[in-house]
Amino acid sequence: MPDRISPEKQQRIDFESQFIKFEMIDLLSKTILDELECWANENIFKPLGGNLTVQRPLNESVNACAIANPKRPVEAVIKINMGMIREIYRDSFVFPPFSEQFVKDSSNVAGLNAQFRNLGFTFGSGLPVIPRNKRNAFYFSFEEIYVGRNERFTEDATACRCMYFEVALAWVFFHELSHLVQCHYKLKSQLSAGTDFIEFYELNSSGSNSEENSKEQSREILADMEGIDLTLKYMIRKDIFSAGALYIFMCALGCLYNRFYNGYPERIDIGQGSHPHPIIRHEFSVAFIANAISQKLIEMGYAKDKENVGIAIVYLSVRANLLSGIYWGWRYEDKEKGALTSFMKYSTSHDHESRRACCLALEVEMNMQLVTVASNHLMRDNFLASLSQMKSFFDQSD
Ligand SMILES: [Zn+2]
Repeated sequence: MPDRISPEKQQRIDFESQFIKFEMIDLLSKTILDELECWANENIFKPLGGNLTVQRPLNESVNACAIANPKRPVEAVIKINMGMIREIYRDSFVFPPFSEQFVKDSSNVAGLNAQFRNLGFTFGSGLPVIPRNKRNAFYFSFEEIYVGRNERFTEDATACRCMYFEVALAWVFFHELSHLVQCHYKLKSQLSAGTDFIEFYELNSSGSNSEENSKEQSREILADMEGIDLTLKYMIRKDIFSAGALYIFMCALGCLYNRFYNGYPERIDIGQGSHPHPIIRHEFSVAFIANAISQKLIEMGYAKDKENVGIAIVYLSVRANLLSGIYWGWRYEDKEKGALTSFMKYSTSHDHESRRACCLALEVEMNMQLVTVASNHLMRDNFLASLSQMKSFFDQSD
C-alpha cells in the first residue's frame, strides 16, 4: 500500500503537535459535539424512546465509528477519536493562511477566475469573505485575541479557520449519524447469532469478498451524502450558511478525502476494503453537494432554477478541489515541487474509464439498498428528498 506522506514533512508535523493545546481542541470539540448530541436526541432518538451518546476517546488514531445495537436500534453510540479531532483542528489552522499565501505567490487562481470570465461569484483573494453576520460563534470568541496578531491572523483567515473546524467536525459526526439513522445494521449480511453491537469503523476494516465489499462501500457513499445533507441543514439552522462557508466546507471535505487517500493504490476498482476508493467518494460527494445546494437555494428563495446557481457551484467546487489538493501536496506529500499530486491527477481525465465503471457499479448497489434505507429511516425529513431529484450521478449515455 503506497504511503504518500513524506517522512520529513511528517517529522515537522509531529514536532508541531507539542504546540497544539489539548485543552483548546477538547473544549472546542466538546462545545460542538455536545450540541449535536443534544440536537440528535431531541429530534431523532428521544421521540423514538431511545438515546444517542457521543464519545471522544483519547486515541491517537484518526478514526471514528458508529455503534448500533440491533436489539435496541435507537440506543446508539458515536465515537470520534481525539486523534481525528486534532488533525481536523490542525488543517483548520493551517489551510486558511496557506490559501492566502498561495494566491499571493501564484497565478493559478487568477487563471481559474479568467476561465469563469471573472463573473461576480469568482474571488481573487486567497479566502472568501464570510460576511460578519454569517460568522460562527467561535469567531466572535477569538476575534479580539487573534485578529491582527500577525500576518497569518487576518480577519478572513480567522473567520475561515473557525468555520472550517466547525463544519468539518459536524460532517464527521453527521456521517456517523447517517449510518445509524439509515439503519445500516439491517443491511449487514454476516451477522452472527447473538451479535449485540455492530460497529461501523472508518479505518482499517476490510470486507471478505468483493460482492460484500461493494455493498459495504455503497453504504459509505450513502453515509457521505446524508452527512453532507445534514451538514448543509446544520449550517442553515445555525445561520452560518453563505457562499464563503460553503466553499470552506468543500475545501474541508477535499482535505479529508486527500487524507483518506493515503494507503490506497493509484488504481480504481472496488478492491478489498469496506470503504470505497477516496477518489470515488469524492466524485459522489461533489455530484451530491451540487445538487443538494442548488435545491436548498431554490427552496430558500435565493435562486430561481438550477442553471441559475449551477455555474457558481461548479466554480466553488473546482476551486476547492484545486486548493485542497495543492495544500495537501505541499503540506504532507513526498512530491516534486509544482507536480500534481496523485489525487489531483484524477481531476483530469486520468483513468476515466475505471472511475466511471466503479461509480456505476456502486450506484447499482446503492439503489438496491435504498429500498431498505427508505423504509427504515429514523428521520422523516431526510436526504432522500435531495437524492430523488437526481436521475443518475454519472453520465451513462456513452
Ligand atoms: Zn462510515
